[in-house]
Amino acid sequence: MEIASTVNELREKILAWKNQGRKIGFVPTMGYLHEGHLSLVRESKKRSGATVVSIFVNPKQFGPTEDYKVYPRDLERDRALLEKEGVDLIFYPPVEVMYPEGYRTYVEVEDLQDKLCGKSRPGHFRGVCTVVLKLFNLVQPDEAYFGWKDAQQVIILRKMVEDLNLPVKIVPLPLVRDHDGLALSSRNTYLSPEERQAALVLKKSLDLAENLIQTGEKNARQIREKMIELISAEPLARIDYVEIVDLQNLEPLEKIADEALIALAVFIGRTRLIDNLRITTGGIEK
Ligand code: AMP
Repeated sequence: MEIASTVNELREKILAWKNQGRKIGFVPTMGYLHEGHLSLVRESKKRSGATVVSIFVNPKQFGPTEDYKVYPRDLERDRALLEKEGVDLIFYPPVEVMYPEGYRTYVEVEDLQDKLCGKSRPGHFRGVCTVVLKLFNLVQPDEAYFGWKDAQQVIILRKMVEDLNLPVKIVPLPLVRDHDGLALSSRNTYLSPEERQAALVLKKSLDLAENLIQTGEKNARQIREKMIELISAEPLARIDYVEIVDLQNLEPLEKIADEALIALAVFIGRTRLIDNLRITTGGIEK
């Protein structure tokens, strides 16, 4: 496994693989890897001839009061995990390589970027889309793997790829949870033991929604209110949003029919956590 930190190092490798006709699979991450990230890596290994993982804590997707500076970073640990998975290349660029002095170009996916997490994190998806498009241009992957953990991100990136005719297939993969149901996240390291316990309320509220839906409840307002009631009973939790929306355009739904996304963001102490459940014609996934 090699590590490339410059555009030239990366391009040289990619070109060699392309010339050998190897299909390139790509997993973009911000590092501090866990089983959620590794599930994407394993899928790429299965489906591709060469797997590239990027590790880049992207300053453009953090708001001025957010956790960019303290976001957990540990390259040695990540490197060991990826080596074990048989990853071919880590792209680990410094900020100056991605955003040199005078950088001015941004990508926005109108409307979708302003909903759900976009409301409380203005500019977040502009930062995400910009870095992902840059990474796609650098890595030139055939397929790129993303987790449904970040459902809005998947929906926005799919739209970007469609709108800009990018020659890459976005492959979304299931959300991976800890043994007790908490969605895995690099940010879980911020939680104290009490907060870690309180954080289970996110998944519990989705379990409640699932039960209601399975017993025939279709009214989104009813489901939402019950979820809010449950979360509000947890003293360490403060709701950012709980929404039931269309899986394509993220518009609020009144009634749940074939497809829906139930998404929530909740502060547990100072840590903002997200989770979601998707209803598709194939069933409920969370
Ligand atoms: P991040 O490092 O948080 O930017 O995440 C990198 C990729 O891993 C994104 O596609 C995330 O959606 C995905 N990911 C993060 N957490 C999970 C999880 N618990 N289950 C599945 N995918 C995840």
